[in-house]
Amino acid sequence: MHIKTLLNFVTNFKGFIFQNTHLDRKKDKLFVTVVPRKSNKPVCSRCGKPGTTYDHLRQRNFLLPPIWNIAVVLLYIMRRVDCKTCGKVAVEQVPWSTGKSSVTKQFAAFLAFWARKLSWKETALSFKVSWDIVADAVTWVVQWGLVHRNLDNVTAIGVDEIQYHKGQNYLTLVYQIDKHCRRLLWIGKERKKETLHAFCDFMGEQRNKAIRFVCSDMWKAYIFVIADRLSDAVHILDRFHIVANLNKAVDEVRRSEVKKLKDDGKPAYLKNSRWLFLKKKKRIRGYARTRLRDLLTMNLRTVKAYLFKEDFDHLWTYKSPSWASTFIDQWTRDVMRHRSLPELKKFARTTREHKALILNYFHAKKEFSSGIVEGFNNKAKLTIRRSYGFRSDKLRKIALYHTLGNLPVPEVTHRFV
Ligand SMILES: [Zn+2]
Repeated sequence: MHIKTLLNFVTNFKGFIFQNTHLDRKKDKLFVTVVPRKSNKPVCSRCGKPGTTYDHLRQRNFLLPPIWNIAVVLLYIMRRVDCKTCGKVAVEQVPWSTGKSSVTKQFAAFLAFWARKLSWKETALSFKVSWDIVADAVTWVVQWGLVHRNLDNVTAIGVDEIQYHKGQNYLTLVYQIDKHCRRLLWIGKERKKETLHAFCDFMGEQRNKAIRFVCSDMWKAYIFVIADRLSDAVHILDRFHIVANLNKAVDEVRRSEVKKLKDDGKPAYLKNSRWLFLKKKKRIRGYARTRLRDLLTMNLRTVKAYLFKEDFDHLWTYKSPSWASTFIDQWTRDVMRHRSLPELKKFARTTREHKALILNYFHAKKEFSSGIVEGFNNKAKLTIRRSYGFRSDKLRKIALYHTLGNLPVPEVTHRFV
């Protein structure tokens, strides 16, 4: 069988033919010369209409997916079109090209598929291309997906923030958390009012009206904009963020007590105890459990805070909003009595202040469990970590959409993966 037959089987470049092939044994590369058919008129890359050939440019290389670990390189002399519609001379548009990059659509889809399973660096090494080629491929596939995705029927969203650059910067991520579709919808810089306003502008008035549930944490800027722009929706302060805030408060108590013990010249009872107090009790086993049991017998502020935290967990077992409300009243009242726990009192005050929004979780029949946003948050953090060395914010966004966007992928004649 001829190599050209194989190429024609996996591609569909109407108006072009594979003229000849040449295997470079030293470079492990298969070069394939492509030429337009005689009748083929170049298509203007500006308006997509055919025109007459104006002149020819230098020969360009385009990479197809490798075959048997041999790189496949298309060689093509680009034409320029004298376009009557645009009234200008423009470069032609060819069916395999993704633009300025040397990666073909076929190879871009191939690399982007692997770049979701491997890091971009590993993908580049595995398929013997540069990191930039992988970045170009993923960028093209993501941009295609963003243009072709459907943003209708979004009825539930989760708003979350994520830190990067050692916590110096924030990104606001908005997820769709409907049962029928869960994905990353939008990314914005920082976590200001303007950030969430920009999301609402992006969605548009009509789509905003269709949103019935919004989950977020207690961040003031978010609460403000949600009340302002998404006022028809039920706003839920979600469990994941509330628990995270409570854990933070307990940890602040622990840290200040560690310092106090040290300053008073007392033994370091709380050394390396951070995770003991943050983990759920039932998940602690073995020696750690014995250690926790011993610590709990001591008269420490951290222990008090910890017991309050464990007690707060009961909240999530309630089905009725009114019982949950009574529980919150009782719990916050008990906390407020403890003068020695200012960090926890702060949490209790915020909880009281936003009680109505927390109760919305129960009004919504716990339909929007914290697991969805938490799962997205973990994946986003992992992507951010992997993209640590990225030189631009644009590529970091591309990586996030790529892993979490659940985007449609470009259709190609043959599925290479
Ligand atoms: Zn044109």
